[in-house]
Amino acid sequence: MERLVQIGFEASVAVITASAPGKINLYFAVGPKLDNGYHEVCSVYLALKLKEVVSVGFSDKTEISVQGSLSRQQLLGVPTDESNLVVAAGKLITDRALRFEITKNVPVAGGMGGGSADAAASLLATQALTGNYNQVDAVKLGADVPFALMGSVALGAGVGEKLTALEMETELHIVLIVSEGGLSTPMVYQRLDELREDEDLVPEFTPPTPVDLIDALAQGDVFTIARLAHNDLQRAALSLRPELQETITRALSAGALTALVSGSGPTIFAIAESEDSAKKIAAEFGDRALVTSGPAVGARLEN
Ligand code: ATP
Repeated sequence: MERLVQIGFEASVAVITASAPGKINLYFAVGPKLDNGYHEVCSVYLALKLKEVVSVGFSDKTEISVQGSLSRQQLLGVPTDESNLVVAAGKLITDRALRFEITKNVPVAGGMGGGSADAAASLLATQALTGNYNQVDAVKLGADVPFALMGSVALGAGVGEKLTALEMETELHIVLIVSEGGLSTPMVYQRLDELREDEDLVPEFTPPTPVDLIDALAQGDVFTIARLAHNDLQRAALSLRPELQETITRALSAGALTALVSGSGPTIFAIAESEDSAKKIAAEFGDRALVTSGPAVGARLEN
């Protein structure tokens, strides 16, 4: 389980590596703002084969290095101080200083839970490194962390952390169209609240469960899944970044069954009928597009 790295003549230092998937939300309904500032949501999460990898070892001070397949600008957007979620995850397990090597493949601040995946991978790796498997409350690290640990397909209630596994009888071919510059999740929620207030629109206190979509997932009916995919945050993200509408329109013209803002954006995900169709849609966007698929497993040890 441990990879041993020889340092000089004496010490051997264990480094443990874990991975965790990025996600999209095939469905995301948002309730009204609660007194504690949070919103109750109803979410259908899909874990993607696109995953983050985090290696953790002991150190004399907290150290973080970041690499990966993302653009330099995206990699530079990842904090390398104590605000990185891998550090918070490590602290739930041990008081000892740790060094982290993060390999990022999930767009940063893209509404795809990349930071949450890093937190989940860090939790698992730090547990294995220290041998401390005490129960931790992963939602403390972020609403999407419990799902990054679980993976596959799930219905999320509460802030997204009350998970129920769903059946899914097919593989979904997904194209991710990345935008440089992220969108802040709190700002997108705030815009949604403002838009709703302007329209005197009061959403249901408990957002509705998408029973027909859950049925379509169980049947592996890709066309119905695409037709029923929905994101309440989309109009708020589009109001902050109107140019995303053009990306959606182009993806649809290139053959996407549907194209939506992922989570709080600005990444757009398109559902394709087949892998070939996904490649064709991606070609329309050049370097901005990634082809992936789901479901995928949750966080797991890699060595
Ligand atoms: P969410 O939708 O869960 O809010 P996201 O998928 O839109 O998140 P992330 O990539 O998780 O976006 O990053 C959101 C912010 O979190 C970043 O702008 C960054 O400041 C901070 N952050 C903390 N740790 C990490 C990490 N390991 N990787 C990326 N960002 C991180």
